[in-house]
Amino acid sequence: MFKALILEQGDDGLAEAGIQEIGEDRLPEGEVTVAVEYSTVNYKDGLCLSPKGGGLVRSYPHVGGIDFAGTVEASDDPRYEPGDKVVLTGWRVGEVHWGGYAQKARVKADWLVPLPEGLSTRAAMAVGTAGFTAMLAVMALEDHGLSPDKGEVLVTGAAGGVGSVATAILARLGYEVAGVTGRPEQADYLKGLGATRIVPREELAETVKRPLESETWAGCVDAVGGAMLARVLGQMKYGASVAAVGLAGGAALPATVVPFLLRGVNLLGIDSVMQPYESRQRAWARIARDLPMDKLEAMIQPATLADLPRLGADILKGQVKGRVVVDVN
Ligand code: NDP
Repeated sequence: MFKALILEQGDDGLAEAGIQEIGEDRLPEGEVTVAVEYSTVNYKDGLCLSPKGGGLVRSYPHVGGIDFAGTVEASDDPRYEPGDKVVLTGWRVGEVHWGGYAQKARVKADWLVPLPEGLSTRAAMAVGTAGFTAMLAVMALEDHGLSPDKGEVLVTGAAGGVGSVATAILARLGYEVAGVTGRPEQADYLKGLGATRIVPREELAETVKRPLESETWAGCVDAVGGAMLARVLGQMKYGASVAAVGLAGGAALPATVVPFLLRGVNLLGIDSVMQPYESRQRAWARIARDLPMDKLEAMIQPATLADLPRLGADILKGQVKGRVVVDVN
């Protein structure tokens, strides 16, 4: 028997979470059974934990947790054997497949990545989907020519999960980082992660009035989308790129095409869910190399399975700072 946070639908059709002891026979099909050590809370976890499942959860009872790290307990796949440390993000685990909010998970071997040397299971979940995606965003910007000598890089939603990790990685790589936040009280936290400038959210909240503003940013990791992304596009330097990661501020893009046509600005889409294995491995190796562990530690808010319903609601309101690490045991 093991402990799991199970989401069950009530008579009103709304889901509610409760901790239950269940048997391994309840686990879904998959080649590898993992003893989960840590999971975390991403924006998407907030959606999955919400009473209507955020449009992501397909059936109940359900176990959420879109990412986890732990130790292989049993494997029918030659790539993994008991004792191996592994991390999982994406592949709709925690949405349509049971996820990491339990002491055990059973998944396809293809979905796992061996934990890179130098990263603990706890650190891997301090990074989690949010941090993994931040790394993918930085890699995409580099692939499109970004380097520290090009100028300041903007990170939107900076005090959130994606934003915190992006800030720490960029600063470590030698970039000047400007962090946009709606929480001025987090300025010291962001400066501690390496941000050199804090941009108040209001400065970028207004919708586009002029399609081009002065050329300010050499790159941008955008976790917010919406009107803010539209504004940022008009402030990019000639030939610079924006990595579009999130929609915390909205899915609409009230922009013009002028920055693309007159400044050669690139809008790079970042998806972490279906990333191929090789790029996952590359991103995790880069995380182990480029993310300072003391900065990662400063982002961590520890939690247990019992805290998840509250934290799920908090992250949807933009009230979670940095990264939650859930000790499922
Ligand atoms: P968080 O809630 O931790 O961070 C989002 C941050 O955005 C908040 O902390 C806040 O930062 C800012 N924010 C929130 N609401 C608004 C608003 N209305 N207007 C402007 N800024 C706002 O979430 P995550 O970091 O986990 O995820 C960020 C986004 O990235 C989400 O939309 C998520 O779905 C997406 N995502 C996408 C992935 C992909 O594969 N493409 C993978 C992972 C996440 P502050 O307080 O500093 O202003």
